[in-house]
Amino acid sequence: MSGGDMAKPLLGHQSMEGDLSITPAAGRAIGVLGSGDFARSLAIRLVCSGFKVVVGSRNPKRKAGLFPSAAEVTFQADAVKKTDVIFVAVFREHYSTLCDLADVLAGKILVDVSNNTEINHHKESNAEYLASLFPACTVVKGFNVVSAWTLQSGARDGNKQVLICSNSQEAKRTVAEIAQVMGFTPVDMGCMSSAREIENIPLRLLPAWKIPIFLALGLFLCFFTYNLIRQVIHPYIREQKNKLYKIPIEVVNTTLPCVAYVMLSLVYLPGVLAACSQLYYGTKYRRFPDWLDQWLQHRKQIGLLSFFCAALHAVYSLCLPMRRSHRYQLIETAVKQAVEKKMNIWVEEEVWRMEIYISVGIIALGLLSLLAITSLPSIANSLNWREFSFIQSTLGFIALLISTLHTLTYGWSRAFDENQYKFYLPPTYTLTLLVPCTVILAKVIFSLPCIRQRLLRIRRGWEKGRYVKFVLPSATGEYSSRETSSNV
Ligand code: NAP
Repeated sequence: MSGGDMAKPLLGHQSMEGDLSITPAAGRAIGVLGSGDFARSLAIRLVCSGFKVVVGSRNPKRKAGLFPSAAEVTFQADAVKKTDVIFVAVFREHYSTLCDLADVLAGKILVDVSNNTEINHHKESNAEYLASLFPACTVVKGFNVVSAWTLQSGARDGNKQVLICSNSQEAKRTVAEIAQVMGFTPVDMGCMSSAREIENIPLRLLPAWKIPIFLALGLFLCFFTYNLIRQVIHPYIREQKNKLYKIPIEVVNTTLPCVAYVMLSLVYLPGVLAACSQLYYGTKYRRFPDWLDQWLQHRKQIGLLSFFCAALHAVYSLCLPMRRSHRYQLIETAVKQAVEKKMNIWVEEEVWRMEIYISVGIIALGLLSLLAITSLPSIANSLNWREFSFIQSTLGFIALLISTLHTLTYGWSRAFDENQYKFYLPPTYTLTLLVPCTVILAKVIFSLPCIRQRLLRIRRGWEKGRYVKFVLPSATGEYSSRETSSNV
């Protein structure tokens, strides 16, 4: 969490669902200014939700056919006169053209649904701009995070939340009631100063994924270059063999598991660092550094990217025998055998290594799939805290252990074979083991009873060197307080 974020209250935005009674809003007349895509979808949803809808257009005759017959399509001024709550489904650039309606709009609630094309596009938010043009109206920002498509298809699919903010509690409550009757979940985002934040939300491209994606790309690039040197450049320089054909599949397929494995360990490393910090300072109330906080918050995305790379690795591996190069190599080996009159090339150790390696890899992928599925909000919400933490923490750690076994059975004795050190570079799998083995070792140390007990106490609020007040009964039966160190 950044410093700025820390300044905000933890439970700042509240779902307004519980506060609202559903019935009063239904049946009332709602105005919609504009007859575009959003206005049309909004009118359809409002009509379906039992509202009387009056659409205000500059050209009602031409636009009437586009709306459901239950909706009245009329001139803007007429629509405004007939309703108290009016959705302004018009782009910001055209707000000023509505100024002629200022008198009829006075005292009414205007719902600003607009979005921008760029983050922080204007000095003031669109809603604040609308409020400045119509000071006699109460403006509520809302519904902009819902697309016209979602409105039309209903709130069954996709995000059901409608973020709302306004300086008037009463107006906010009215719009929240309407949203709830329409099947959405109104979320109170506070006063009008939040409008800019709400308007920026639909413009943000995967904000929580940026760091994990860059991390995955960075790791991919490093391991890809390393594998390229070992698998393509080394044979070219040392033996003048052209192995460029290996780049699209073989090099990529040796890179993907490295990324997946290291990323999986990076899901558990911040937890280990956090535990170290808590043990060192003897408290859980000391703030983690910002970078660790950010890292802890991105664990889900890092885990999902690890699963993505592992799944790609599985598909690539299944396709390996399909390659023409593989077929040539098989035939070449068979011909060599025939020439050398070798009848049996069965190597028991190799057979066992491969069987175990593949089986363990499949189990690891299965566990990763389970972790990925349970991280989906709809599934996660159906689990209690114990179930969720068992799957994400315990099964996740088991997945890391099994992935380590998969890597070790893949490497087998290669680390001890000097031919594997191309340009003195160790085999890639030995590098990938570094972070996961550190995490596993740390987890083993944390599971030692003396450390585990201390960590558990810290996590239940115990603090090193802090004096706490115990209330003790005296000999006379009266209670007296005494300060003592919780260390004792
Ligand atoms: P649109 O299809 O272009 O419709 C805009 C409407 O504005 C027109 O149909 C027009 O209706 C009306 N309008 C009023 N004064 C105007 C003027 N001077 N010049 C041009 N048009 C004028 O746009 P939209 O997609 O419905 O979007 C409307 C608002 O909803 C925008 O602020 C947008 O940011 C917001 N929004 C849209 C979506 C979405 O999925 N489309 C999602 C969230 C928010 P008349 O000709 O009948 O007057």
